[in-house]
Amino acid sequence: MKKVDFVDLKAQYKTIQQELQENIDRVIESCAFIGGPFLNGFEKNFADFCGVKHAIGVSSGTSALHLALTALGIGKGDEVIVPVNTFIATVEAIVHTGAKPVFVDMDSDNYNIAIEQIESKVTDNTAAILPVHLYGQPVDMDKVLAIAKRHKIFVVEDACQAHGAGYNGRKVGSIGDIAAFSFYPGKNLGAYGDGGMVTTNNSEFADKVLYLKDHGSVEKYYHKVIGYNYRLDGMQAAILDVKLRHLPDWNESRRKNAALYTELLQDVEGVKLPTEIDNASSVYHLYVIQVDTDRDELREYLGEQGIASGLHYPVPCHLQPAFSSLGYKEGDFPESERYAKRIISLPMFPELSPNEIEYGCEHIKSGVTRG
Ligand SMILES: *Cc1c(COP(=O)(O)O)cnc(C)c1O
Repeated sequence: MKKVDFVDLKAQYKTIQQELQENIDRVIESCAFIGGPFLNGFEKNFADFCGVKHAIGVSSGTSALHLALTALGIGKGDEVIVPVNTFIATVEAIVHTGAKPVFVDMDSDNYNIAIEQIESKVTDNTAAILPVHLYGQPVDMDKVLAIAKRHKIFVVEDACQAHGAGYNGRKVGSIGDIAAFSFYPGKNLGAYGDGGMVTTNNSEFADKVLYLKDHGSVEKYYHKVIGYNYRLDGMQAAILDVKLRHLPDWNESRRKNAALYTELLQDVEGVKLPTEIDNASSVYHLYVIQVDTDRDELREYLGEQGIASGLHYPVPCHLQPAFSSLGYKEGDFPESERYAKRIISLPMFPELSPNEIEYGCEHIKSGVTRG
């Protein structure tokens, strides 16, 4: 039987083994484990890649979000507007600052925050909107920025799934006031461990992130504020710097894979495919379809054929027990709730072959018509 993985990090490693090994050796030989030239070099290259003035390496996407919000001065008494259809870390970061997350339902066409519902959630306490470029698909940022401007609130981008995604000639992570990226191994740009990045064009915010991530210290053993140990280490930076050179090609391969999925599945009845918004280019961190048939049965059937799949995400954030104290209940966000029961994420990574995609699509077809 054929086997189609959901992601195959080994396949990617094999294509860059030599370059990686050389850079890892350099880190060890120079003992540049914390801070130093590998971190500085990668930060500069990532800033250039995003088209942004400042990029500060941090320990994860979650710490990037936490620091981004903290650098804006967001905390107790503030509210942050966030989509309910996201990975839990987006919301955790808000809670960790002491601010209150205020959920918004999803747009049924592009899976991102329902922009037309944002303004009704703005109160005197709203400090920021935190849109998520989910699955690698950019949020329609001009509309979000217009709302933020009207109400004089910040925009924090969660770009953890969207390294390199384009919007109106810019890259995500350079559009709002500040942004967060994750280098979790399975992301489009993944470390060999944990890692993250904060990007911004604002020097004051960048400065704050710089000392907050390192115990609030502006000079060794002189601490301006109480900070965190949220540093990105030299080894991960050296690995990420090598991988960054390949990211444009890898993103292009993901787009090709997505196009083939779309071509093969577009006429299948009872299957809804992802679409892209105008003036934007998704980097397809995930390719997520919706099905009318029993989702769990279809997943099981695909599994029997050797085809892996995922759920992103099975429970919308407002129904997670972790957030029960926020007081939301079933029925509050009908679109996200309905969607969570219908979705399947298909195998998606740059090295996925046309053969594997064809095999997967054949069985999705036979699976949904099986009834
Ligand atoms: C992965 C992810 C995060 C968190 O990143 P970590 O590096 O795992 O902390 C936050 N938001 C979204 C949307 C993510 O996909």
